[in-house]
Amino acid sequence: MASYNDRVEGVLLGTAAGDALGAPYEFAPPRGPELEVAMVGGGPWERGEWTDDTAMAIAIAGVAATGADLRDDSAQDAIVRRWLEWSRTAKDVGIQTGSVLRSASRGGNITAADARRASEALHRQTGRTAGNGSLMRTAPVALAYLDDEDALVEAARSISELTHYDDDAGDACMLWCCTIRHAVLTGELDARVGLTHIAAYRRELWVKRLADAESAAPASFPNNGWVVTAMQAAWSAIATTPIPADDPQAGVFRADHLRLALDAAVRAGYDTDTVAAIAGGLLGAAYGASAIPGEWRQVLHGWPGYTAHDLAALASAIERGGKPDLFDFSYAGSAVDTCAPHPYDDGVVLGGVGVLRDLPSDVDAVVSLCRIRDEDMRRDMPHVEVRLIDRVDRDENPHLDFVLLDAVRVIEQLRREGRTVLVHCVAAYSRTPTVGALYGARLRGVGVDDAVRDVTAVLPGAYPNPAFREALRRVGCLAVP
Ligand SMILES: [Mg+2]
Repeated sequence: MASYNDRVEGVLLGTAAGDALGAPYEFAPPRGPELEVAMVGGGPWERGEWTDDTAMAIAIAGVAATGADLRDDSAQDAIVRRWLEWSRTAKDVGIQTGSVLRSASRGGNITAADARRASEALHRQTGRTAGNGSLMRTAPVALAYLDDEDALVEAARSISELTHYDDDAGDACMLWCCTIRHAVLTGELDARVGLTHIAAYRRELWVKRLADAESAAPASFPNNGWVVTAMQAAWSAIATTPIPADDPQAGVFRADHLRLALDAAVRAGYDTDTVAAIAGGLLGAAYGASAIPGEWRQVLHGWPGYTAHDLAALASAIERGGKPDLFDFSYAGSAVDTCAPHPYDDGVVLGGVGVLRDLPSDVDAVVSLCRIRDEDMRRDMPHVEVRLIDRVDRDENPHLDFVLLDAVRVIEQLRREGRTVLVHCVAAYSRTPTVGALYGARLRGVGVDDAVRDVTAVLPGAYPNPAFREALRRVGCLAVP
């Protein structure tokens, strides 16, 4: 169940991560291996800022999170209103989407019927309405119909048609949504699961398009402003990037496939943010939010003032169909106030969730290892959430070794920036000493058993669970780069 929730939360985060990674490189030709790809920002984009792809997806997600059926007129009216509102201050709006929104809106108002009419009129007039702009935002639609594939097929086409009337756009959105849905439900990557929903006379065309994507590099689809080549480039990046085998000693993990495939998607060139956003929605669905590097999650942000925390919460709300989150965030008990400096580094504070709620004045960065309610998220300093469940069952932490190392890398980066970092879970019993020990072992170059002993000595009641201890022994002997 935990890994399913992780995959749900990965859909919007993956979209945003690909989008923000690709944003600095838009319109440039393919990037060779000698050139860096990093989430650095550029042009109008801040580091970690997502663009129109994620913004438009968030507009859909916000409506889906109310539990509305996205096939209903009222839901689609709300979506196009949100798009219009966003477009008024957006740093970029796709050409086709901008054209439809402009001609469909009258006196500041817009309805789905207006948008659909404008979309169809543009198609009749130009015959060219298969831009990639509906595919780039389609991922949240899949989350709204995890329990109903037929409804998903209808909804994906219908939302696409609001701005992109062409059959290719509708087919691509439907195929990608079915693929994302399948990935969330099973963890598998299979772009063919939706083919049965394509009209027979067009199915062979898509079978060939997918096969072509799997047999050529992402840069072989350069005209990727077209929805078909955008999807081919995204699928090529995923399908032709080898999935690493877990090798904790080398610091290489299966979960790295998400990062490597997004890197490959950006290297396709041209509409880099969109190709990577498309790929990211699916990769996040297959590998989960926990496979998205903390370095990226820390800086992700964008319209309408959201961060990684908000995207995960939004995805989870869609999955619940608008029902409230019943998780108990009260975290009562005196142990939540446990607080001690790390025995090897007093720039790292180890503690319980009570320390987050009454933050020491010298702390200026937070790494949370337990679930955090919205009002406890710090917006005034780096605050990274790490998906770590304090259970021994393997399914609860699908990428345990990767996540432990990733969390420590985030702490190391924050320390290099000179920040004082609070690392906390609920009561500092298991997760905090585990991550604290790995951080300490790498810092001092000591064995993890010694680091566990020294860290648990300063935290009352601390006893890392056996699965975490085993994971520490697997990743603990990695030297700090
Ligand atoms: Mg964009």
